[in-house]
Amino acid sequence: MMRARTGFLVDGIFITHWHADHFLGIVGLVQTLSFMGRKEPLPVYGPEWVHEAVSGIRSLSRFNVKFPIQSVEMKHGSSLMFDGYTVWAFETNHGLGSVGYVLEEDPRPGRFNRQKAVELGIAPGPLFGRLQRGEPVRIVRDGIAVDIHPDEVMGPPRPGRKIVYTGDTRPVHHRICDMCSDADLLIHDATYDDESMERAREVFHSTAGEAGMVADAIGAHTLALVHISSRYTSTASHIRDAEKRFGGKVIAPSDLDMMEIPFRDNGGQKSE
Ligand SMILES: [Zn+2]
Ligand SMILES: [Zn+2]
Repeated sequence: MMRARTGFLVDGIFITHWHADHFLGIVGLVQTLSFMGRKEPLPVYGPEWVHEAVSGIRSLSRFNVKFPIQSVEMKHGSSLMFDGYTVWAFETNHGLGSVGYVLEEDPRPGRFNRQKAVELGIAPGPLFGRLQRGEPVRIVRDGIAVDIHPDEVMGPPRPGRKIVYTGDTRPVHHRICDMCSDADLLIHDATYDDESMERAREVFHSTAGEAGMVADAIGAHTLALVHISSRYTSTASHIRDAEKRFGGKVIAPSDLDMMEIPFRDNGGQKSE
């Protein structure tokens, strides 16, 4: 977080599963947050065993931590609303209790049709703002009071962006289709390339080809292959295997890489 310069304003922590390498970092983070003067409670969201794990984190952090650490269990279909977005959990398949997460932004208001507003006789100014906020306005046209409804000048709402994060898992698209359809970005386990299909099955991970299959099944726009095993010195075979199954964009990002996710326009059409 220091290197990515995200700041330390943490509203909550979402954990996909309780393998130690996926959550022990919370202990250090909690110390840092406390050192920086945090007083607000810190919720930790995760699958079954979250209460036990958080109680372990609490006992490892017993000195100098001046804020409560809360535990919240997430199951298939659990959702949490935040300011401007919702987080959903879906069950994954990693050989222990595990979930993935969907982050979905609230829809944005439709586009304001300025020309139409002018044609209807609305004077540019504060009335435009009220219509854009969804409030009806009253104007006087040819000596008669006329009510203008926002629908007359606003296009249909535009979808927010959607990111699906699977965490470590075998492919589970049959469980997530409804929640994850049309994701702008799918971040999927791709520990192995397709040559190690057997190994992936044994240890409850996915191959890049399987990640591609899921991306295709849920109609994702971009697929990010992550959790690639350190046995590989290049990600070329992963990209190739995913591209065999998925026609969209495939990337294998490194830690701290940044990408911008463009908004989609009306009608589900994605704009570049
Ligand atoms: Zn892992
Ligand atoms: Zn794991």
